[in-house]
Amino acid sequence: MIEVQEELLKWYQKEKRNLPWRSDKEPYHVWVSEIMLQQTRIEAVLPYYRHFMEELPTITDLAYCPEEKLLKLWEGLGYYNRVRNLQKAAKIVMEEYHSAFPQTMSEILSLPGVGEYTASAISSICFNKKEAAVDGNVLRVFARVHNDFRNIEDSKVKKEIRNTIQEHLPQEAGEFNQAMMELGETICLPNGEPKCANCPLQKKCLSYQKGTCSHLPIREKKKSTKEEKRTVYLLIYQGKVAIRKREEDALLHNLWEFPNQEGHQNKKEAESFWKEQGYVLSKIEKGPSYTHVFSHKRWNMISYFIEISNYPNNSYQWLTKEDLEKHYAIPTAFKPFQKEVERKENNS
Ligand code: SF4
Repeated sequence: MIEVQEELLKWYQKEKRNLPWRSDKEPYHVWVSEIMLQQTRIEAVLPYYRHFMEELPTITDLAYCPEEKLLKLWEGLGYYNRVRNLQKAAKIVMEEYHSAFPQTMSEILSLPGVGEYTASAISSICFNKKEAAVDGNVLRVFARVHNDFRNIEDSKVKKEIRNTIQEHLPQEAGEFNQAMMELGETICLPNGEPKCANCPLQKKCLSYQKGTCSHLPIREKKKSTKEEKRTVYLLIYQGKVAIRKREEDALLHNLWEFPNQEGHQNKKEAESFWKEQGYVLSKIEKGPSYTHVFSHKRWNMISYFIEISNYPNNSYQWLTKEDLEKHYAIPTAFKPFQKEVERKENNS
């Protein structure tokens, strides 16, 4: 780790790009550049940064800037909340810190729009505090140098990596943080295209030695759960409710359920659906709605209470609430409806 740091710092001193916010360690400059750089590349940010600083050279200018002008200065960068938060924070710095940028991590972190990465960057670069600034670039470099196949999208993994870097930070934390970022931005590029031939860490890099650079880092976004809409029917006949067995190969197979089908039906559609099958309806009213989350999908369910006075032959079981409770396994997804059936029965 120490050898890696030495190589990296030597390389950074020689190769660092001449960026306007690096010419001094003024927190206002570093802060604005870091906010601009969120989700935007350095080349794209440079003209915006220069123009912004010409128009609003101090934190006081930012605090007092009319909103229309501020939004115009940000036009093209997108995510307008970022600049609104910049201004809110500038006002706080003026009012609560007499225009001197706060220096402790907790104070910096309490400013609107400032997260752990930005706070660590400002605190290490401008105030020489030992704080690891870990963004996507740093995670990528770390994963490759250590041949680390953990998923860097996992917040637990991110935290562990930050802790490891934090533990081993050199005295020149600000320089080291910038060197890691610079390496990630210029050499250890994403999408499997690192320029290993030009890399100062080549000899120490485990993924280079093992030929795995282009497979790292691992980024697996949590699978988003698919939503399925369903309409559940609580069919009541002479105080008994209808249930059916779920199909063999269906989710929750072989458990019992209230009749239901995909999609959200309105009252009229629900009414016709049952009438068309030969049911005689005496009352229909909206029942409870409930969303049940499985590991890979969500059921967004609405329901109808339907009292019927006659029904055709069918394969449903018609049960009293006691039978239902004692003898039939109803999946959790349908429990709220079962409870509602019981509540209604108790009140009738
Ligand atoms: S050797 Fe290649 S993969 Fe390893 S840190 Fe350098 S650029 Fe990244």
